[in-house]
Amino acid sequence: MPQAAELIRAADTIAVAGHLNPDGDCIGSLLALGLGLRTLGKRVWMLSHDEFPPRFRRLPGAGEVRSTTDAEMDLAISVDVSMKQMLGDVRPVFEKSAQIVEIDHHEYRAPFGDVQVVDQDAAAVGELVYLLLDDLGVGLTPEIAQNILTSIVVETLSFRVPQVRPFTFSLCAKLLETGVDFSSLAEMVYWSQGREATVLLGICLSRCSFLQKGKIAWSIVTKEDFERVQGADEDIDPGASEMLAIQGVEVSVLFREKKEGWLRVSMRSKGRVNVAEAAEKFDGGGHFDAAGCVIPNEQSKMDALLGKIRELLIENGG
Ligand code: 5GP
Ligand code: MN
Repeated sequence: MPQAAELIRAADTIAVAGHLNPDGDCIGSLLALGLGLRTLGKRVWMLSHDEFPPRFRRLPGAGEVRSTTDAEMDLAISVDVSMKQMLGDVRPVFEKSAQIVEIDHHEYRAPFGDVQVVDQDAAAVGELVYLLLDDLGVGLTPEIAQNILTSIVVETLSFRVPQVRPFTFSLCAKLLETGVDFSSLAEMVYWSQGREATVLLGICLSRCSFLQKGKIAWSIVTKEDFERVQGADEDIDPGASEMLAIQGVEVSVLFREKKEGWLRVSMRSKGRVNVAEAAEKFDGGGHFDAAGCVIPNEQSKMDALLGKIRELLIENGG
């Protein structure tokens, strides 16, 4: 943390970027850090390969995010990025930057920066962004607070995951004290599911199948489903967590047909199976309880992935 703060103090131009298919943790952390560094007088580029899902586009600072830049940076900072491939088109900005800092909480990672601010016990990357900004003497504004709070609320699935720690709540108290409008935040995160997303979730859940006496739940959302509903890839983001909410389910797997010939896989676990281990087998990654990968759209590859999950479940006493 002190080394990262030193690099930030010395830099004039700074790029901040998150990962492909950005989630609330990544987005809130990126925006909070970007806005915070600006208060120090830095010239900050906030970058994301993919557009933000619509519900996050009204977060403070979201309108200023660009897909990439040709400008050369004194410093590039990644948030919630476990390997450089996950930067997408922003990767060249990092490769040209004089220095790289990574801020992350993934358990399985392939470091690519000069300095790593990594805490696997952090409930969300937003916790680490707060600590870094605090170290730099950046005070909390309601805008920064709203972004950090979004990162925490989304990443902890509303304080439902074991990574929630006493610090998480004491930080949330500080964030609320800035006057953040919590009801509008809750509305953005939970009460704004579009019709497309709702119908796709219905399809996903009604098609759900079970293995290992109901301990593994899996489903698929096809290209035809997306077309029929006119839904986007991210509309079914909650699918894997919703399957995990079923009583007795320990691991959930969601396949979604992405571009021609490929399946995007989302895995979630309630604690016995390390799904990042399964994801890594298929060139993906993630956390113990939330991981993903992309596999060829073939029955044999789906079977192999579900077989790996079954093997890990049995190995760990399930
Ligand atoms: P999601 O299922 O929400 O897309 O991803 C869950 C977690 O797995 C995220 O923390 C994300 O970083 C990681 N993840 C998802 N897909 C991939 C992938 O293709 N490669 C890697 N390395 N990580 C992934
Ligand atoms: Mn993320």
